[in-house]
Amino acid sequence: MGRPSQAIIDLAALRHNVNVAKQLAPRSRMVAVVKANAYGHGAVTIGQALQPLVDALAVSCIEEASELRYAGITAPILLLQGVGEPTDLITAAELGLWVTVASEQQLGWLEKARLPTAVRCWLKVNTGMNRLGVSADSAYLCLQRLLNCRNVVADVVTYTHLAAAEDLQSKQTERQLAAFDALNCSTQRSAANSAALIAWPAAHYDWVRPGYMLYGNSPMSEDRPSSPQLQPVMTLSSSVIAVRNVETGESVGYGSAWIAKRPSQIATVTIGYGDGYPRHAVNGTPVLVNGQRAALAGRVSMDMIMVDVTDLNPVRTGDEVMLWGPGLPVAEVARNAGTVGYELMARMPARTPRVVRDTHNKALKSSA
Ligand SMILES: *Cc1c(COP(=O)(O)O)cnc(C)c1O
Repeated sequence: MGRPSQAIIDLAALRHNVNVAKQLAPRSRMVAVVKANAYGHGAVTIGQALQPLVDALAVSCIEEASELRYAGITAPILLLQGVGEPTDLITAAELGLWVTVASEQQLGWLEKARLPTAVRCWLKVNTGMNRLGVSADSAYLCLQRLLNCRNVVADVVTYTHLAAAEDLQSKQTERQLAAFDALNCSTQRSAANSAALIAWPAAHYDWVRPGYMLYGNSPMSEDRPSSPQLQPVMTLSSSVIAVRNVETGESVGYGSAWIAKRPSQIATVTIGYGDGYPRHAVNGTPVLVNGQRAALAGRVSMDMIMVDVTDLNPVRTGDEVMLWGPGLPVAEVARNAGTVGYELMARMPARTPRVVRDTHNKALKSSA
């Protein structure tokens, strides 16, 4: 037995979430986004599990795609940022990747390249996110150039990315969809990330591109009653390694940032920011000890946190702790740390073992 802190990865939950997504967008094909090590869950494990369920996978860059190909994944893989230099187009063609064209520079590289085979392309159009993509004004000409390029297979998809689909009060999504609909293109289309898949049926088009929701987390800024029943794929768990009583006025942890207002019982848990628990989590951030909510007490250390368990049934060394997972959404922990669940997942370090399970109790295999 190594350190008791681990990230349990539940593939049954992943499959459940894919089904939820398919039911919400039944007429669209699905690209499952597995960038950033599948949002910290382990790209190869998640890619292998998703491959038979979805139409394609998506990653950010060619290095991430190579990792999946070398692990034997044969599903189509879309490069969301396209290539960073012309020679990467050769690698992309050899690996059979789908390549985003998001600028006239990338388009020029593709026109000049000598490739072993033609590649499938997704043309990314900027409709208001102002991050990547060719301008809406140039989209038609770019599309014609792609369709006439010998290095490109005929089936181009035109896509855009939404900046605020999680915010139902914002007018941004309507503006972006109107700009996207106004493009003069007869290709297949794609616009929806998780939030748009959940909340904007008009954005579903031919292909949806969910990431975050597949890992069981709602991207919506407020949870509505109609939010789908997603199941967290990752459970970050650890255990109590010490329990002590402190008197009123005594402090706990670095910087004495928590001071007992009453005689208190404090449990020390072996997990810290070196294991992916956010250092900025404030006093009171919920932590589940033996399935009961308790409150973070004091600053997060690299390898440990302390939790006020005064109001819980007696807590002992070795007791179970859950930092997030079923019953404690990562987004709630993230709010207490001034960030979003996306960041907490994507920053999960290699030190924390990913323990893969396929039912609720059975450990299949461990990977670093
Ligand atoms: C990351 C990403 C997605 C997935 O977004 P989620 O909010 O995780 O669903 C979709 N499309 C593009 C272009 C992305 O970069």
